[in-house]
Amino acid sequence: MSLPERLYVYPWESYTENNCNSYFLDGPVKTLIDPGHAHLLHHLEARMAQDGFTLEDVQLALSTHPHPDHCEGLLKLKELGALIAMHEEAQAFIKSFSTQWEHVTGRKMPEFPVDFFVKEGRLTLGSEVFHVLETPGHAPGSVCFYWEKEGVLFSGDVVFVQSVGRVDLPGGNAALLARSLEKLMGLDVRLLCPGHGPMLEGRGAVKENFYLIRQYFFGPQA
Ligand SMILES: [Zn+2]
Repeated sequence: MSLPERLYVYPWESYTENNCNSYFLDGPVKTLIDPGHAHLLHHLEARMAQDGFTLEDVQLALSTHPHPDHCEGLLKLKELGALIAMHEEAQAFIKSFSTQWEHVTGRKMPEFPVDFFVKEGRLTLGSEVFHVLETPGHAPGSVCFYWEKEGVLFSGDVVFVQSVGRVDLPGGNAALLARSLEKLMGLDVRLLCPGHGPMLEGRGAVKENFYLIRQYFFGPQA
């Protein structure tokens, strides 16, 4: 797999604990996408250490959506000095679902004092630019990050290899997810970096994956 220089991938491979894939861009602004669960952060820390990074190196931690297996670790990163950000509707959703949060994590729902909200449009990281795409459906306030220069899409739990995110969780909406998928299909993606499972490389393979998902989950005319 040919990764862009300075992109580090930390896939989650345990079958017994649910956590997300994390992606670290050692760029002009050192950016971590989806740190995962707080209690599993030491796994990420150990993996990053093998590449010569510490959690303190992270300057900006982003979350694709407000599920604890993606965003809970933001709080620790904030403590360590990173800025943290998510979509405004993601933060609002977290506030509204404290009971479910505690049910899922067994921990009290924390405050998420974000430093700024990500929203549709450009997110400038020094000389690098991510395009933020609002892609609700799996969760409210769900976003994808498109690194156009490298053709990389960080798709969170919107799109996986041969699958899409669940819509049966609180705030899920299949019609919105179908629309979000259409939006992503318009991008020129060379490397799909999803929130769970394997990555997918190659413009043809990524396109085919989009079409396959659309056909299978939403019907040919969706
Ligand atoms: Zn999720």
